Amino acid sequence: MSNHLSERINSMSTSATLAMAAKARELRNQGKDIIGLSLGEPDFNIPDFIKEAAKIAIDENYSSYSPVDGYVDLKQAISNKFKRDNNLEYGLNQIVVSTGAKQSLANVAMCMLNKGDEVILPAPYWVSYSDIVKLAEGIPVEVPTSIETDFKITAAQLEAAITPKTKMLWFSSPCNPSGSVYSQEELEGLAEVLRNHPNIYVVSDEIYEHINFRGGHVSIAGIEGMYDRTITVNGVSKAFAMTGWRIGYIGAADWIAKACTKFQGQNTSGANAIAQRATITALEAPVSKIQFMIDKFHERRDLILGLLGEIEGFNLNVPEGAFYVFPDISSFFGKTLNGTKIENASDFALYLLEHANVATVTGQAFGNPNCIRISYAASEDEIREAVKRIKAVV
Ligand code: PMP
Ligand code: GLU
Repeated sequence: MSNHLSERINSMSTSATLAMAAKARELRNQGKDIIGLSLGEPDFNIPDFIKEAAKIAIDENYSSYSPVDGYVDLKQAISNKFKRDNNLEYGLNQIVVSTGAKQSLANVAMCMLNKGDEVILPAPYWVSYSDIVKLAEGIPVEVPTSIETDFKITAAQLEAAITPKTKMLWFSSPCNPSGSVYSQEELEGLAEVLRNHPNIYVVSDEIYEHINFRGGHVSIAGIEGMYDRTITVNGVSKAFAMTGWRIGYIGAADWIAKACTKFQGQNTSGANAIAQRATITALEAPVSKIQFMIDKFHERRDLILGLLGEIEGFNLNVPEGAFYVFPDISSFFGKTLNGTKIENASDFALYLLEHANVATVTGQAFGNPNCIRISYAASEDEIREAVKRIKAVV
């Protein structure tokens, strides 16, 4: 009966990160000893002070629908956070709280894109961008990068990708999956191009802003001429290990925020009340409260880079943020490993799952067919064991 489903859903691909995580779970249930490095999710528990805030919210009976765009005091905390961390002034009418940054992104696509509008996606890009854009009838325009440019696009590449149909540029910094961080100068370069194209909007996905090992996160909205046309997306999933609590938010021009609120009002009615209350506490806390997680990710980044660097055929950049490595493994293409022909990154990821019992994600899903993504949001023992197993089978 699947042909009775809408064309919309039939043409959508399944999230590769979630699919790989489901497959790993299934194999584990069958008794296989799988190490899951596919899903981008901190392995820390939510810090106690945030849990306490949620418990208090339950006792205080935060059980009704919240305002569609989020509680006023949460939006105030977000506004303060934008000022404190990003030097950005967003008033309360410019902020919308949603059920995860993923929903924030979907809201923006549905509110901003008309059929045939082009959205520039520097590749590799986060797995869901392309399908979210397509769902809104936009056209993803991938701009490939490679390990030689640390997986970042240049101003000249951006200029060359722009057409009269270009509506938006979407990117994440720190980047999922490459871990690359755009510097102030690099963003200035992109902004300079965009200043000549006043009708192009920017979605700046800053969900990994705190997981940045070189420090000095830069928001493109703060660069001259960019504020009015940038939608700054953020959330608490990564920095506060709150993935399952599903809170994300945007700061944007008031008319964009208003449209997202209208859209959300017909979709979800707004985000979970208890999680919103807890998010106030999370965002009001000094960053020092979560520094231990950032430090751990930094240590693990160094550990996994060192270990993978010993494997012949793994070509690595040095990720400066997020919690992924994105090795180029194209040197294995055309080779046969233990009877399995490796033609592409998907074959390679599947091979690692079946022969090494290690779950990773194919770079194909992120718009780069030469790489695989490995999440190092896992314990040091798991990282050591996973790389040992990978080394043994390649
Ligand atoms: N953007 C990026 C770059 C991500 O890696 C993720 C991963 N979850 C999201 C957005 C969505 O985050 P969430 O919906 O959990 O807030
Ligand atoms: N963003 C995470 C990842 O890239 C979580 C999975 C998802 O939301 O798709 O793995």
